[in-house]
Amino acid sequence: MDIVIVGAGLTGACSALVLTRRGHDVTVIEKGELGQATTANSGSAILYQTKETELLVTMTARGLLLWDALRAEGLTPFRRDGSHVLFAGAEEEFFAARRADFLSGHGVQVERLDRATLLDQLPGLHADITGSFHCSADGETNPLESCIDIARAAQRAGASFIFHDACVALTFQGDQVRSLRTTSGLTLAADAVVLAAGHATAALAADCDVDLPVYPERGEQLLTYPQPPTLKGRVLSVRYTRGKAKGAFVGLALGQEPDGRIKIGSTRETGHADLVTSERGRQGLLEELAFCLPQLAKLPIERHTVGIRIGSRTGRPIVARLPGWDGVFVIDGLGGNGVAFAPLVAELAADLIDGTADPLHPQLTF
Ligand SMILES: Cc1cc2nc3c(=O)[nH]c(=O)nc-3n(C[C@H](O)[C@H](O)[C@H](O)COP(=O)(O)OP(=O)(O)OC[C@H]3O[C@@H](n4cnc5c(N)ncnc54)[C@H](O)[C@@H]3O)c2cc1C
Repeated sequence: MDIVIVGAGLTGACSALVLTRRGHDVTVIEKGELGQATTANSGSAILYQTKETELLVTMTARGLLLWDALRAEGLTPFRRDGSHVLFAGAEEEFFAARRADFLSGHGVQVERLDRATLLDQLPGLHADITGSFHCSADGETNPLESCIDIARAAQRAGASFIFHDACVALTFQGDQVRSLRTTSGLTLAADAVVLAAGHATAALAADCDVDLPVYPERGEQLLTYPQPPTLKGRVLSVRYTRGKAKGAFVGLALGQEPDGRIKIGSTRETGHADLVTSERGRQGLLEELAFCLPQLAKLPIERHTVGIRIGSRTGRPIVARLPGWDGVFVIDGLGGNGVAFAPLVAELAADLIDGTADPLHPQLTF
């Protein structure tokens, strides 16, 4: 089958690899450069500890295994260094313990560490931090590095990538997609099209009269200059895991990248899609870090980044056929889990194209 993928972020790169390896003729059209949109401005966490529904736990379990496999092929710096959710006092511990019980009920081991034990792993903790819940199965990867290596593997397998050219319209014969037109005037023949265009996916679907139940959420992060090895695994505050449900402006999701930079995430600015950083975001992130690891909050900041998550109004990611049209498939609404789920949603979209059923498909429609 001739398949065109719109978007060369992590989702598009993973889709290109999977579909090419399944024997399809794949072209990826990217309006900018590889991974330079949300993927380049993302957190690196692939975690059970942020998941609050059975569906998301199942997707994380399958996602982690696919990341293990990509790592085994040398296509990502993915590693399972675990995650800590820090708590300060009884009220925060109660919330974190409930999440740990939920995860344990789904077969994910989460261990409570008291302050003394935690200090061995995270020296310099704020005096108010009383302990953490630790999940050793959790992982992390650098999203941009992974995107580049996965796209290169897709190219080696036969996929073509076109950069600096954007999809402007799909053309149909009856209800069946036939081709895709680009800004530069190219017409690419297509038996199937995968919309993996991040923030632009909803607009492309709207051109086909389909309203995707998604919304943008701006996220700011800070990066320090490279540091000697300081942190192992990801470190979150309860304000991060709890704030997710409550719509808090900022929560701590911290970790050290393979290049030594410490990534300090992130804000959640629902409804905002403009790519601007703010002083409020910077201050909020540094204050949140100071509540947990005050010495790190004094490090000079090299970069302040911003990216757009795409939330789903159903609370579930979308991997589905575009209703009313044959041959158009959409991957959207991945929220703050697009790195964790990219290899999985690529497989699930490929299964839809190939006509192979997966138990997750009915849960990922809209
Ligand atoms: C601050 C922040 C922290 C995050 N932390 C995490 C985390 O820790 N763990 C996690 O799992 N997820 C996290 N996420 C979410 C994750 O970053 C995203 O879900 C993921 O990067 C989305 O990748 P993508 O390929 O779908 O989108 P993108 O990277 O945005 O790629 C879409 C591509 O489509 C291209 N495009 C758009 N329109 C067109 C067009 N018309 N024609 C051609 N190309 C087009 C764009 O140029 C872009 O390159 C975070 C996000 C943010 C903002």
